[in-house]
Amino acid sequence: MTTLIFTHPDCFAHDTGPGHPEAPERLAVVWQVLDRPEFRDLERRSAPEADVEQLSRVHDRSYVDAVLAAVPADGYRRLDGDTLLSPGSRGAILRAAGSVCAAVDAVLAGEATNAFCAVRPCGHHAEPARAMGFCVFNNIAIGAEHARKVHGLTRVAVVDFDVHHGNGTQAMFADDPDLFFASTHQSPLYPGTGNSWERGVNGNILNLPLEPYSGSVEFRQAVERAILPALEAFQPELLMISAGFDAHKRDPLAQLGFTAEDFEWVTRKLVELADRVCGGRVVSALEGGYDATGLAEGCAAHLTALMRA
Ligand SMILES: [Zn+2]
Repeated sequence: MTTLIFTHPDCFAHDTGPGHPEAPERLAVVWQVLDRPEFRDLERRSAPEADVEQLSRVHDRSYVDAVLAAVPADGYRRLDGDTLLSPGSRGAILRAAGSVCAAVDAVLAGEATNAFCAVRPCGHHAEPARAMGFCVFNNIAIGAEHARKVHGLTRVAVVDFDVHHGNGTQAMFADDPDLFFASTHQSPLYPGTGNSWERGVNGNILNLPLEPYSGSVEFRQAVERAILPALEAFQPELLMISAGFDAHKRDPLAQLGFTAEDFEWVTRKLVELADRVCGGRVVSALEGGYDATGLAEGCAAHLTALMRA
């Protein structure tokens, strides 16, 4: 058993307009990585569209309906200062969310040990009733609730190492002690949340803000001293990853200094922990990453560790 990849060409059709960092070219970079000899044999599956029921487990039904109605026939529709819809967005946003549900289905059915969803747009800023920061639907949170409501799991954990705080996931998890969310992120930085004193209920939210220009040392300390012990104590039945690669030192949107080795290291640590507590079951979904080289290096490192190469 190995690593499954969920993706779909519809995710290229989400057009964010000229000069937008969350561009279709990002997915092309990831697909080029998947075509490398070491990853070429990974099974790729078509990401299905999420349905309204899946989306409405974490989003208000009225928000889901309003977003789907807002997809324009031509041109752009702005949902937020930097979050737009284009005619091709419907397929992309539905398949990005659906990919995580399908990955959860496959991993919980034992068809693979773990899975990576190579999709866009990203999701972790999307709140129950608000699109934010390039994110429309919260893909990882939708997958977590899918695991609980459809597969009967109780405890699901999400680790988010995107350089930005996953405010949306935190908002969806904060009142439920059977969901756990841990995040490393640069602070101060967009969206301004993720302070260490935001602890949810029974400490189910764990934020490790990193000062600008922090790098490998600070990141690995946060993971080893705080996140791994907390995950061990929480004992998730499924471990999910919001895999953003914008903490890479080359990324133009932030000032952290992570390297490819850091992304491989953290993934390895999380895979080892999943082996101990939940039969190795990991579902990871792409979040940010806005430098082509940083994104490619980060994805390759992440996949290498997921495959235990
Ligand atoms: Zn980000």
